[in-house]
Amino acid sequence: MSLNIDHIRSLFPVLHQEVNGKPLIYFDNAATTQKPLAVIEALSDYYKTDNSNIHRGAHTLADRATRYYENTRVVLQSFINAKEVEEIIFTKGTTEGINLIASTFGRKYIKEGDEIIISTMEHHSNIVPWQMLCEENGATLKIIPVSEEGELDMDAFDKMLSSKTKLVSIVHVSNALGTINPVEQIIEKAHAVGAKVLLDGAQSTSHLEVDVQDLDCDFLVFSAHKLYGPTGLGVMYGKREILDSMPPYQGGGEMIKEVSFAKTTYNELPFKFEAGTPNIGDVIAFGKALEFINEHGKKSIKTHEDELLSYATEELNKIKGFVPVGTAKNKVSVISFNINGMHPFDVGMMLDANGIAVRTGHHCTQPLMQRFGIEGTVRASFSVYNTKSEIDSLVASVTKIAKIKNK
Ligand code: PMP
Repeated sequence: MSLNIDHIRSLFPVLHQEVNGKPLIYFDNAATTQKPLAVIEALSDYYKTDNSNIHRGAHTLADRATRYYENTRVVLQSFINAKEVEEIIFTKGTTEGINLIASTFGRKYIKEGDEIIISTMEHHSNIVPWQMLCEENGATLKIIPVSEEGELDMDAFDKMLSSKTKLVSIVHVSNALGTINPVEQIIEKAHAVGAKVLLDGAQSTSHLEVDVQDLDCDFLVFSAHKLYGPTGLGVMYGKREILDSMPPYQGGGEMIKEVSFAKTTYNELPFKFEAGTPNIGDVIAFGKALEFINEHGKKSIKTHEDELLSYATEELNKIKGFVPVGTAKNKVSVISFNINGMHPFDVGMMLDANGIAVRTGHHCTQPLMQRFGIEGTVRASFSVYNTKSEIDSLVASVTKIAKIKNK
């Protein structure tokens, strides 16, 4: 099914404004996507009509809020095809999901002499929690190198794997380069040595069909705000038998069964990992974002984004002085680049003057930038509401900017 992009654009209020006297062109979708009106209204409707603390409430509003909140969990179960709804845990985002797993699974199962494998293209949130854990428990962090094209060196990965490997924590899709990693192979190989696999799905869940049962990953973490949903909210999926065996993350209300000074017992999944009053309104609004995706279909969204990607890649590559960073065969709609002789920040500022929003810098992937010997890149990332004519504007602006130093 081909999408009606004009209609889709009409659902996103933020897109209809001018920035620096030019119509806004929003190409910073890998940082965060815009929100359809249904999401914004669901959030305000919740506070206008349903605001109440969830679970255990004896009154109508509490019951309504609980049903709406739990409904999003059910929608998420089918969104990633989890076997059980209790395997969906709400977090603050991808970052908290990884920290949760490092603090609970990591502390329990990873010991001195054990190894954790990550890669050079990880977001800082999938590096630092493991460095902290290794410092604490004497485990070793191993790093899969990345090729000039921005792909994982799978031979090196094969050589790294051993019975010492306890966890492979890997980004499904690189936020800095757009590379789609061969996670099916990684999971199979890691399982063959008895290691568990955590997928950082912050960038993959918005572009690809992610089926946790099909992939057989042990954990998947992602953020609502990259899926047309609210900020400060995310999901940690884990296989039930692993989650059941893990200690709780934070102590407090909701996560307990019974508390006494003699002994406290913990609640069942998913509440064991959801201490305190959760982000109720945003969870409910997130349900509307998922509805938006389901309504249009991930396949159709990806087809549209892929068209934008190949058109933009072809056109930008014609510009003198344009240097792409990351040219993997298998990519989502992210283009990272530099302009010869120019600082990425300056390029970003000049694009902004033309109403074009891109991200510049290291994209929270400093080791990856070090690998390429650069300080940062300019990153344009496309979403469902972007158009070919917006890409024409980007190409025209980049052409002008590049001429400053590339006559
Ligand atoms: N991993 C990747 C690949 C990301 O792109 C991001 C967000 N830029 C994160 C992790 C962290 O997500 P959050 O800030 O929502 O926790």
